[in-house]
Amino acid sequence: MAILTATGILEARPKVGYFYSGKKGFNLIADYFKNLTVSEIKSRPVVVNEDTSVYDAIVTLFLEDVGTIFVQNNGYLSGVVSRKDFLKIAIGNSDIHKMPIGMIMTRMPNIITIRDDDSVIKAAQKIIEHEVDCLPVVEKVDEKNGKELLRIVGRVSKTNITKLLAQFVE
Ligand code: ADP
Repeated sequence: MAILTATGILEARPKVGYFYSGKKGFNLIADYFKNLTVSEIKSRPVVVNEDTSVYDAIVTLFLEDVGTIFVQNNGYLSGVVSRKDFLKIAIGNSDIHKMPIGMIMTRMPNIITIRDDDSVIKAAQKIIEHEVDCLPVVEKVDEKNGKELLRIVGRVSKTNITKLLAQFVE
């Protein structure tokens, strides 16, 4: 019953009860995805502090089995680091034990973010448009000198969205 109402096949009206909405295949799938929010599919974020060494961040990447790490400063989102960012620095001559992650990350305000109540479709569009693998899910906490201070509350990656498609068909 929950699936039938969530997908819009059945509609519920007070006093009338459940009735067939008349919606057909493609519209149902489109509506299902349009109404799904980021909060329903997000994963736990993997976050390190800005002074963490590049070496320790790479260890975290392996231990947590993720492709993107988020960086925070004083509890607020300050950066994003991807697999290729790590590769770039690791093939150079830098001492990755001494180098802080803050030196290699993509920084605010250049980070593409998403919010809990945004639609999954919006997240997918941002991932495609900006050619990134993963978005931090954020909440605006405050503002300082005209800059937003964002708390990291989740992670949405290409994997989350692919899983959703597979589950839907199953
Ligand atoms: P990879 O570099 O491993 O292919 P991405 O395509 O996700 O992974 O990252 C490409 C570049 O974009 C990297 O330099 C990374 O720091 C940056 N990046 C990754 N995610 C984001 C994001 N959400 N917002 C802004 N920049 C990002």
